[in-house]
Amino acid sequence: MNVTASTCMTAAIMIVDDNPVNVQLLQVLLEDEGYRKIEGITQPLQVEQRVIENRPDLILLDVRMPRLNGLELMKRLMQSLGADMPPVIFLTAQIDEDTRHQALSLGAHDFLTKPFNHQEVMQRIRNILQRNSLKMEYRARAELMETLVRQRTVELEKLSRQDPATALPNRRALLEMLQQTRQNRQPVVVYMISVQGVEQAAMLHGLSAAEELVNLISERLNRQVNGSDLLGVWSSSDWVLVDQSQVNGDAEQRSQQLLQQFNKPFWVQSRQLHVQVKIGIAHSRGDHSPEQLMRMAALALPEQQGRSREYALEIDHALTRSGRVHEALKQAVARRELSLMFQPKVDLNSGYMVGAEVLLRWNSAEFSWVSPAEFIPLAESGGEIIELGNWVIQQALGCLSRWRSKRLVPEDFSLAINVSANQLMQEDFAIRLEEQIVRFGIPAERVEVEVTESGLMKNMQMASDQLSQLNRAGVGIAIDDFGTGYSSLSYLKALPVSVLKIDRSFVRELHNSLQDQRLVETVISMAGHFGFKTVAEGVEQAAQLELLRRIGCHLIQGYFLSPPLVEDELHNRVFTPLYSSLVS
Ligand code: C2E
Ligand code: CA
Ligand code: CA
Repeated sequence: MNVTASTCMTAAIMIVDDNPVNVQLLQVLLEDEGYRKIEGITQPLQVEQRVIENRPDLILLDVRMPRLNGLELMKRLMQSLGADMPPVIFLTAQIDEDTRHQALSLGAHDFLTKPFNHQEVMQRIRNILQRNSLKMEYRARAELMETLVRQRTVELEKLSRQDPATALPNRRALLEMLQQTRQNRQPVVVYMISVQGVEQAAMLHGLSAAEELVNLISERLNRQVNGSDLLGVWSSSDWVLVDQSQVNGDAEQRSQQLLQQFNKPFWVQSRQLHVQVKIGIAHSRGDHSPEQLMRMAALALPEQQGRSREYALEIDHALTRSGRVHEALKQAVARRELSLMFQPKVDLNSGYMVGAEVLLRWNSAEFSWVSPAEFIPLAESGGEIIELGNWVIQQALGCLSRWRSKRLVPEDFSLAINVSANQLMQEDFAIRLEEQIVRFGIPAERVEVEVTESGLMKNMQMASDQLSQLNRAGVGIAIDDFGTGYSSLSYLKALPVSVLKIDRSFVRELHNSLQDQRLVETVISMAGHFGFKTVAEGVEQAAQLELLRRIGCHLIQGYFLSPPLVEDELHNRVFTPLYSSLVS
């Protein structure tokens, strides 16, 4: 006996026949066979109610009965039970085709003809019960599967709105919530909390440390959550707090509270980790799409860490301009909108110009003159600096070569070219510059490159390789904006530096600030110790110049002696002292 056959014995069977003898006969037969749940009914009108109550697994149904015949009864049962209709075997004496046909079309499973043959009755009943129990089993399995799938879907739905690392609501959940508030025209304040230091933690101490840090940050922020606030994770380094309750309160004050959470370091794997945080704030009265709102909050992020800023339309305008300026910049070389100017560097002992710094100028058809302070950072971020930088090198060397051959400048006149970090990070930068210097027939000593400290720090090894190669060829290396970057003098020892350009922020208050004087003095004496020359930038007043000369600065550059000049102006001034009273 297989599994389904054994389940047959527990099956509930209902016998319906108006003749009690028939009912009894079948009952005895079935009981002898081992069936235990048998119910006999002789009143066809009671059947429907009993079937609904007892849910038999099989009905043996007489066709011919007074008041309600088997076919009619079956129709009724089908109507009230539908898919739950148990299988039916008709008990019949007649075997006329018409009755059979009607019964089958109603869904009858089989027929038993009176008088009953014991063997046949048992076999047919067993067949139907087995088939039915298989069907039930499949149905149960299908139902179970459906339930499991439904549960899993609910779980996945939940997970798809959750950040896996912190279990906080993720980007999708935040956007959905903002969509909801918009539909309800509910005012909200969005705080975009941008954290710097997680990536560094991952690099320095490993992923598990970074993960722990992320969780600690989430915990601290969570403490600031109240009422209907929603704190979520926007990206690997950005959290978002949506505030619906304090919308009339002071967002600035709240962001200060949030910032304060980061004053203390985080303890991760028995290490103290510090992170830096800034916050962008965006308000909405339910009139911004979630995407707009998040964009506003991201745009509002201030430049400086430890600060917060609220979104304002001007921020957007500035961005739109910089996007358009950036686009225009891509055409600048092809449209011949670029030119060079040259700002003299003057020897403080002789008063003569000994060289000049090459400064790029852009006269855009669309924006007129654009300051390099605006377009150089754009070119750096978009990669156009490589093309621009090559153009500058090409033009500057071309000029110097021409000036030298026409003797428009003295033999030892040199040009300093600004080189950005991205240029320096090209592997063949030094080789190509060297080749060009040779091609233009210029002694390498007459060329200097100016690099900023921050540029060097991007990839110290690469920068050091490139600069060493240039230095071996004879090219001078100047550290630009000295004092504004890392100001670690130790790295200077490792680099082939020949010039320090003291940033103009130290020169500006030189004649008023004793502290700045001391600083500049220290830098200059230390530079002397290392064998570097010093150039002071941004000298605008006689008093500054006088002080610098006394302190022992070698060269100065600034509006006081000369602004950046075009070629002809430079030639006119290069053979006479720029500041004759200096010459003693
Ligand atoms: P920088 O290398 O520090 O160049 C000196 C800047 O100070 C120039 O600004 C110059 O015009 C300005 N300046 C000169 N004397 C004075 C003064 O007495 N007072 C004040 N307040 N400013 C003075 P500019 O030409 O606007 O250039 C700005 C920056 O753009 C440069 O700063 C440099 O970092 C970058 N830059 C300019 N040309 C190039 C280039 O060809 N390549 C690269 N990569 N960067 C360039
Ligand atoms: Ca410079
Ligand atoms: Ca500078």
